[in-house]
Formats: sequence, structure tokens, C-alpha cells
Amino acid sequence: MKEYDVVVIGGGHAGCEAAFAAARVGADVLLITLNMDHIAQMSCNPAVGGIAKGQVVREIDAMGGAQGLVTDAASIQFRMLNRTKGPAVWSPRSQCDKVVYQRAMKLLLEETPNLDILQAEVTGFLVENGRITGVENQFGDRIPCRAVVVTTGTFLNGKLHYGMRNFPGGRAGDFPSNALSTALSGQLGLRIGRLKTGTPPRILAKTIDFSRMKLQEAEGQEEEFCCWSREQLPPLPHARRHDMPCHQVYSTEETAQIVRDNIQFSPMYQGVIKGIGTRYCPSFEDKVVRFPQHPVHLLYLEPEGADTREYYINGISTSLPVEVQRAMVRSIPGMERAVISRYAYAIEYDFLYPDQLERSLRVKSYRNLFSAGQINGTSGYEEAAGQGLVAGLNASRLAAGKTPVELGRDKSYIGVMIDDLCTKEIVEPYRLFTSRAEYRLHLRQDNADLRLSEQAHELGLLPEKKYREFEAYRRELERVLAVCRTTKSSGKPLLVHLKDLPDGISREEGMARLPFPAGLLPAIPEGRTGRRVWNELLVEARYDGYLQREAAEIGRMRKLEVLSIPEDFDYSIVRGLAGEARQKLERVRPTTLAQAGRIDGVTPADIALLQVSIVRRS
Ligand code: FAD
Repeated sequence: MKEYDVVVIGGGHAGCEAAFAAARVGADVLLITLNMDHIAQMSCNPAVGGIAKGQVVREIDAMGGAQGLVTDAASIQFRMLNRTKGPAVWSPRSQCDKVVYQRAMKLLLEETPNLDILQAEVTGFLVENGRITGVENQFGDRIPCRAVVVTTGTFLNGKLHYGMRNFPGGRAGDFPSNALSTALSGQLGLRIGRLKTGTPPRILAKTIDFSRMKLQEAEGQEEEFCCWSREQLPPLPHARRHDMPCHQVYSTEETAQIVRDNIQFSPMYQGVIKGIGTRYCPSFEDKVVRFPQHPVHLLYLEPEGADTREYYINGISTSLPVEVQRAMVRSIPGMERAVISRYAYAIEYDFLYPDQLERSLRVKSYRNLFSAGQINGTSGYEEAAGQGLVAGLNASRLAAGKTPVELGRDKSYIGVMIDDLCTKEIVEPYRLFTSRAEYRLHLRQDNADLRLSEQAHELGLLPEKKYREFEAYRRELERVLAVCRTTKSSGKPLLVHLKDLPDGISREEGMARLPFPAGLLPAIPEGRTGRRVWNELLVEARYDGYLQREAAEIGRMRKLEVLSIPEDFDYSIVRGLAGEARQKLERVRPTTLAQAGRIDGVTPADIALLQVSIVRRS
């Protein structure tokens, strides 16, 4: 068979982004996935974005990735979360038409030059002299390639749990991938663990009484994830509506009692499920058992698309038996007659301990093998896509004989996530939160392109046309900011006065309420560019002092980031290093002193000893 530069295994959110990025930078790519019709399937909530995750989608877009584009095409409701708080923590989120999302992503990949797609199950690797030379599938195809990206999500040895019944599966409706798990552990000798996640039931709209619930309208203002024109894209399928509402409702004390009465049938509580679930996204039975002081819980009813009447009940993920699920659902106001179309379930699956990866997402022991997404211990479409972009980019760079790139913690949430994965011990599925980032004020959703687009263009990820649009916007912003910093009114720079305007005020309203003569404000262009300049100006005005302080902190951290630790560094020569620290450093093998300092159990004293040893050695 033809030799490819990069083979991507898995067409989920990580795999699609990996294949798209690798092809964008010029690699010849083959994406192999179990089912062509399930490309980019939303296994759980049909929504993209949210707190910290929305920032990741903007980052992907700023680097020329696919997730923002496809989300905009499939969006049936857009909301900017946290609007009542400061713009530094605003987070975009789109409820999506999940079928349109899949179709749009599939078409985008099919239309991407240098990218082939094959429906097959990868069953093993071709290995010669400790190097991967290709992959093989169940049909006996042996496909040679220079680099491989594994993005198999929840499929490795996947097992679905519905009460005490369990079935093998990659997710409901898909078979699992067992041979590849054996290949990763047996053939390649990688360490594999077991995690668990879960999903709520879906119900039919005609059996719901929405009048008993609180309406949550779509935001009137039309915002999008993507900040570029879409001229060079194929016309993607679009959701038919962008204004679909969600509904809020509370579970009842009866719902909690049903759970308590049936907890003996929970595979989690009976120890049938061995995989570890996330604390941050607990199942409904976890909420009842762990938080008995909360008798009721807030739930959201979210449409799954514009052309379906299935609703997702956000907040009631469970692995209790199906008859218990029916009783639980019918104990909720407005759902007394509700009919479940898909039962809730939990899934256990194998994952790769991510401390086996470099921050380029390359596996340390196989120099041309990369992994991304849920297989690395994360949870979420956005986390998967962000990793996919980095792994795909680096796999294609490796195939082209170039060095891999890493994204810094000070530049992106994607960088924060990957650094955490490679550095910290993963004891439960990893999700992004704003609190994981130390430079939150810099890592905002509104400035992702200012942080990343220049580098993305240099790397070949961001097409020329988008880069020119970005440059025009950046030029305008810098011009307006410079004037607002230097021009004074009543003895203070205009930027200081602008701080008094309310957060998020529109340009039209803001101009009418300017706290200085309007003629002093430099002209801001009309249209999307002007709107973005105005918004950025307000954020800069509001946070100017804090941003400067954070920038100084970033500068200090960068000095530590450039102190690199040689790849073959022998930690046994560092005198006085605590045993636990030595073990952890040997396992993680950090590439810089700053990364070493972030390993749990490595103290500032250990770092000082390490620094002395490295300086002596060099
Ligand atoms: P996936 O989207 O799982 O895609 C994996 C892809 O790999 C599939 O296309 C599959 O066909 C392919 N594949 C697997 N093995 C092979 C092989 N051997 N050869 C070829 N192709 C292969 N996320 C949340 O944020 N919150 C939640 O509450 C949540 N709940 C979830 C509940 C359930 C039941 C499930 C299944 C997932 C849930 N998720 C949740 C996770 C979310 O679906 C994933 O994080 C996301 O889909 C991961 O993307 P991925 O690309 O890594 O993997």
C-alpha cells in the first residue's frame, strides 16, 4: 500500500483535528476510523465550549483548526457564559445539532487536500528496530507510514454498564477496540490504566411538559467561535435554526429517594466498575450519596438538534438499571410521562498514562508515535481536539524531519492541559478549568488569536488569507490602543477613563456614554474588525494594571522555562535529592526546570539542587 507521512487512528474529536492539522501543514495523511458515519460523534452532551473549554475552541480556531468552524455551522444556540462576571472569565458555548456537526466535520475532512479516510479497525503496529513503520488493520492491510497518532477515545476494551448488566462497546452503538489495546500494552509495552465516564438518558420531546420548566432562551446577539471569513472552505452543512431554547428544572426529593432505594444495583457502588470516574462531573447517584445536604439538583433539558425531538438531560448521568432510570426521570416535574429514547450508561475504558508522553504528545519510548484525546486520560471534546491539533502538527513535523513544538502554559489553555498531563499524576479523567491556569487574565477567549495566530502562521497551520485578516485586526487594535494610552483627558489617559464603561457595552452605547470628548477617540473601523477592536479596548482598559503584573510574572517563569534539562540527565548524581522527588523526576523526565518544579512532590529545594547539578554538568 501507499506510504503515508502520518496515519491517524480514530475519527473522534482528537483524530479529526489531528488529521486536519497534519494535512494543513503539508503531510500526506490517512485517517483510519471504525465507522465513517460516526466521525466526530458527540458521545455525550451535544455542546461545544463552556468554562475554559470555550477558550480552547477559540485557541484551536486561532491556529487554523476545525472545531470552531464546525461548531459554528452546527450551532443551534450560542451563549457567552459568565457574562455577569468580568470579561476575563467569559466563556463561549454552543449547543449543537449533533448530526450536522458530524456531517460538517466529515465533509471538511473529505475536502481537505492530502487527506484520505479509511473505515477499518487498526489492530496492531508494524515495528522495526524499535521504530513504528506502519499499522495493520483487520482486513490484513499493512500500511507503511512515518508517524502514527493514536486517538481511540473510550474504545480500548470499552465496557458499557447499565446497572448490573454490562456489554462490550466503544460507546452505545459502537463495538470496542480490543486488539489495539493489547498491541499498545503487549507489543509496545506501554503502561495502561482504566477510567470511567457516564452519560444521562435522552428523552422524547412530545412526552415532556415544558410549561413546568424554566425557559432558557438563546442569546439574541449572533456570536461565533470563528473570527475569520470562511471563503476558502467548502460550503458546510448548517443547522437549520440558531435560536433553540433550553429548559431548566430541578430533580425532586423523590428522585433522590429512588436512587437511595436502588443504590445496591449501582455498578459503581457494588465495585463492578473498577475504572476511576471524574469528581468534577459526578453521576447522579454520586451527587445523592456525596451531597445528602442537597435534596434537589439543577438539571438542563438540551435539544440534540434542529431536526430531532430527542432531548439530553444534563445533570442526571447514571449507571443505574434501566427500570430505575425510568422511575427517576418520571419523578421530575414536567417529565411524569416522559419516554426515554436512549438509556443512560457508564463506560469503562483503557487509557495510556500520559506521563509516558513528551509535551509534544510524542510517546517517549517510540519516537514516531503520538497520542491525543481521551486515550491520554482527558474527558471532553475540546480537550480532545486541542491535543489532536498538537499531536497532528508534531507528527507531520516529525515526518518532515523537523523538531516538535510545544505550546507554553503562558500562551494557551491547550499548553496548560498538556503540561499538566505530562507532569502531574492522573488519578481521574482530566478536565480543563480556568483554575488550572496560573495566567488566567492572559488566557482569555477574546485574545486567542493575539496569543497564537502569529506562531500558527509560522508553523504553516494558519492559511495566508486568515493571517492577513488577523494582521489587519492586530494593526488596528495596536493603533487604537497606542492613542488611548498616550492621549489624555482631564490629566488621565483615555484608557483609564474607558475603565468606567460597563463590561461588554456595545460600541454604539459606549460612544454615547464616553467619559471624554468623543473626538479624542481614534476612528475605529466598522464591521467585525471594529467590533473586536472595541471589545479588546474595553478589556485592556479594565485589566491594564493586572495584565502588566501578570506579564511580569510570565517573564520570570519564562527564564525558568529556558533552563532545559538534558534528555539523558542522570538524576542519581544529584546529591541530597529526596528519594520521592528522584523517582518522580525519573518517571516524568521533565524537559525544563520550570516543568520539574510543577511535578507533585518535587520541592523548591529539590529544584535548587537540580539546578546546581545541571550547571556543573554543562
Ligand atoms: P472519541 O470521540 O471517543 O473517538 C474515538 C474514535 O476512535 C472513534 O471514532 C472510533 O471509531 C475510533 N477508533 C477506536 N479504536 C479504533 C481502532 N482500533 N481503529 C480505528 N479507529 C478506532 N465528555 C465530557 O466532557 N463530559 C462528559 O460528561 C462526558 N461523558 C461521556 C460519556 C460517555 C458514555 C462517553 C462515551 C463519552 C463521554 N465524554 C464526556 C467524553 C467525550 O465523548 C470524549 O471526551 C471525546 O469524544 C473524546 O474524543 P476522542 O477523539 O478522544 O475520542
